[in-house]
Amino acid sequence: ARPRWVAQPDVRERAQRLSTKFEEVYARPPAGVWAAPGRANLMGEYIDYSGGMCLPFAHQYVTLTAAAPRTDGLLHAQSLQDADASVADREPRAARVSDVQPGAIHGWFGYAAGVAWGMNRVAVGHSEHEAVPELALGADFGADLLVDSTVPIGAGLASSAALECSVALALFSLRTGDDHPDDTLRRALARACMDAENYIVGANTGGLDQTASLRSHAGQLLALDCRDFDVARLPADPALAGLTWLAVDTCAPHKLADGQYSSRRAECEAAAAVLGVSRLRDALPEDPRFDDAAVVLERFDHLLGAGAPLTEDPRGTRLRLRHSVTEMVRSEKIARLLREADPDWAAVGRLLVAGHESMRDDCQVTVPELDTAVEGCLAAGAVGAKVVGGGFGGSVIALVPETHVQRLASAVQHRFAENGFPDPLFLTLTPSDAARRVL
Ligand code: ADP
Ligand code: MG
Repeated sequence: ARPRWVAQPDVRERAQRLSTKFEEVYARPPAGVWAAPGRANLMGEYIDYSGGMCLPFAHQYVTLTAAAPRTDGLLHAQSLQDADASVADREPRAARVSDVQPGAIHGWFGYAAGVAWGMNRVAVGHSEHEAVPELALGADFGADLLVDSTVPIGAGLASSAALECSVALALFSLRTGDDHPDDTLRRALARACMDAENYIVGANTGGLDQTASLRSHAGQLLALDCRDFDVARLPADPALAGLTWLAVDTCAPHKLADGQYSSRRAECEAAAAVLGVSRLRDALPEDPRFDDAAVVLERFDHLLGAGAPLTEDPRGTRLRLRHSVTEMVRSEKIARLLREADPDWAAVGRLLVAGHESMRDDCQVTVPELDTAVEGCLAAGAVGAKVVGGGFGGSVIALVPETHVQRLASAVQHRFAENGFPDPLFLTLTPSDAARRVL
């Protein structure tokens, strides 16, 4: 079989079509259409919640939200992906904004309704965020929402963040009339989306995806410091070196993903407690090297040997610690490489491969389809390749010479067939603009 490619999204055309559909569903035109992208991540998997550095970029695949305001405090929502098997439930949904709270909303609607709850939560401030009153939705605020996604869902390319962030921008614009929130407001909106995913959906994610979706710029990578969510923008364009980002969606079914994600996080928190730091990044110095990661591991072994209490499985916890501290070093190393005028992409590629091996052997979140995709990409001439996102299925990204893209996709396709895996999907990814109003 020939490789299957995901078509480049025509965002304007999709927005127009969504607007028409909105009128059919809600019997009035939308006030606008907002789009938010998914992301890829070069390095920094499973370390955002530990304060590590991540290196994401927003890609060109977006989720669109058409919206119109209501004055009765109700949120109505429907998704055009309602027939997609990966979406948890398929009904048009409604809730009173003031009734949204942890445990109250089930299925995909939690991502949308959760954002309204998160915005009100950030508006008044909480332990992880100072108050940003501009995000308050007000007592009778409500909205009709219609959602359409061009991001593959459940593929590790952050369709959930794209959904949250498009809804957040839509609600913010409807409420304030401001279509161009600055970076400070975008940081607050990202926190509201994180809160939605953490507390309403119940997925224990750490903010990487939402920050990339709301704060990226076309042609740039973010160096995201998850200690404080400060970002540096790296104008690192692999196209100048004749390279391109290729994603391989393995289409492998997610298994046990939610519980596994949370247990990884719990093990990292247990390791931090043994080391006496509040988050693992604090165990490393500024500008960390691999030697520093080794020192942390020695200290961990020493403390355990001396009887430090540990509730999690010690072997698993040590592996997660090793993944975390080496991943933190890899991220900061790549960021240093990409700050150079003419980046050493071969060195970046070697670090990507090391990152994949760490996700496979230490974080233990890959599946045979992901490992096969990486091996296939490397055998066919990729400069580097690794799993992107949470693993347990999902996608690989590869840094590929532009001239090799088709040949490489054929080779990976062939390898999947040989292994009896379902056909993967291929996408070329371009670092793109953050969430924005499109209509
Ligand atoms: P990823 O973010 O990598 O795509 P997740 O498991 O984090 O994978 O998020 C996928 C979930 O997000 C889906 O199961 C669904 O609940 C929700 N979702 C994402 N996009 C849409 C959409 N367009 N319509 C409805 N639900 C969506
Ligand atoms: Mg997600």
